[in-house]
Amino acid sequence: MTNHLAHVLLGKAAGPDDLFLTTPQGASLTYGDLRQLSAQYAGALVKLGVKPGERVAAQVEKTPEALILYLACVRAGAVYLPLNTAYTIAELEYFITDATPALIVCDPAKQAALQKIGQDSGAKAVETLDARGKGSLADLAAVQDEQFDDVARGPEDLAAILYTSGTTGRSKGAMLSHNNLASNALTLAQSWRFTAGDVLLHALPIYHTHGLFVATNIVLLTGASMIFMAKFDADEMMRWMPRANTMMGVPTFYTRLLQHPGLTHANTAHFRLFVSGSAPLLADTHREWHEKTGHTILERYGMTETNMITSNPYDGARVAGTVGLPLDGVAVRVADAETGKHLGVDEIGTIEVKGPNVFLGYWKNPEKTAAEFRADGFFITGDLGKRDAAGYYHIVGRGKDLIITGGFNVYPKEVENEIDAMPGVVESAVIGVPHRDFGEAVVAIVVAETGAKLDIATMQTSLDTRLAKFKLPKRIVLVADLPRNPMGKVQKNVLRETYKSLLG
Ligand code: AMP
Repeated sequence: MTNHLAHVLLGKAAGPDDLFLTTPQGASLTYGDLRQLSAQYAGALVKLGVKPGERVAAQVEKTPEALILYLACVRAGAVYLPLNTAYTIAELEYFITDATPALIVCDPAKQAALQKIGQDSGAKAVETLDARGKGSLADLAAVQDEQFDDVARGPEDLAAILYTSGTTGRSKGAMLSHNNLASNALTLAQSWRFTAGDVLLHALPIYHTHGLFVATNIVLLTGASMIFMAKFDADEMMRWMPRANTMMGVPTFYTRLLQHPGLTHANTAHFRLFVSGSAPLLADTHREWHEKTGHTILERYGMTETNMITSNPYDGARVAGTVGLPLDGVAVRVADAETGKHLGVDEIGTIEVKGPNVFLGYWKNPEKTAAEFRADGFFITGDLGKRDAAGYYHIVGRGKDLIITGGFNVYPKEVENEIDAMPGVVESAVIGVPHRDFGEAVVAIVVAETGAKLDIATMQTSLDTRLAKFKLPKRIVLVADLPRNPMGKVQKNVLRETYKSLLG
């Protein structure tokens, strides 16, 4: 038996001298370097006592070495567990205690604190890798053999655990198999026509499914290359855009780049593809991007547990405000959240998904896993949406964001769309807050364009003519910014907390 994922990612596409990655700081790696270094890191993992199936937790900055560590885990049959670099020691304690990794890799500044936590949870070692890719793990890898026999792993074996971003509750560890990752990467590479000639501008974090699996796995398996930016910075992106022909981003990348004076038709003319996902892309952003660059952003939809589910087509209409059609081999349906009854065209319900992309379950949480799968194997995403007559899916919000006011359901997106379309509005977030009579009441938090004077009474009147009475916001609050997590998702849980006493 081969190593399923290693074979798909490193098996064939690229020759040893082909370029895999460059960084703005001047580092570069060929595919030959990548094979050698990942062999050496895999050797280091074995030396540290990591056995197949054991977890390797890594809270490390975005460096080429961090990617090498991911591949080393795959090759050594270990389970890669990347952790958001923003997590504090207290948060890390939860993940480490839950996942009981054999090895923890972290920034030197956190080593002492994590050693204590690691000792209590049974870790065999705590090694370091810093923001320059240096540290005790790199040192150990440097003295390992340049060849490594990949540990045999089948399609159903565990490759990674990613903790969900937890915008609606405590993070849970999603268990992803070799085939979950391999099948999705193959499907996406084909759907989006990736080839060895592509150069991807990579500015996403690599502790999250988007930057780690969607972006990196596609590049690896097609033998393409990437410009690997430590983080998103609009000036830097503009500087490197001439060297790339593809980009994947969260919607905030696009809104920030749109504010950059350098963004023009001319300097994006050589681009082949702009992809957006991880949070809803405003229809306005979609339109403005097209006006400014001539390119139509391709929006896709997925989640940590399922990898990618739907995508607007490469050829064919990329429809603003929709997340497109189910990917090849992925079954998607809309069902009533309560009864599970399958719903028809334009009926709003919970999006459910089944396919080789769907995870194995939540780590050490069989009850939660059982609760989120239907008897016929469909996973209940928790996203509310609908399928239109053309077969395109629309996301209208998270199930937990649904507002029930006086017994009526209000889908926040519907109200947000109306507000976002008003002149002078950048964006809005509609939430439910406690209300004595109605249980919950609709409240809109709105960001105005710089210099725009929004008149709340006028906004209310205009909504009056557009929406049923029960959907109208009881209050509109103007703010400078909406709270967002690192993937650009609006944190409605934070807003609900902030405004919980707004209506008394
Ligand atoms: P994560 O597991 O962090 O990738 O978050 C997954 C969630 O992000 C999904 O369940 C959706 O709620 C949201 N999401 C991802 N892509 C989109 C999209 N294109 N439009 C709207 N929501 C999205």
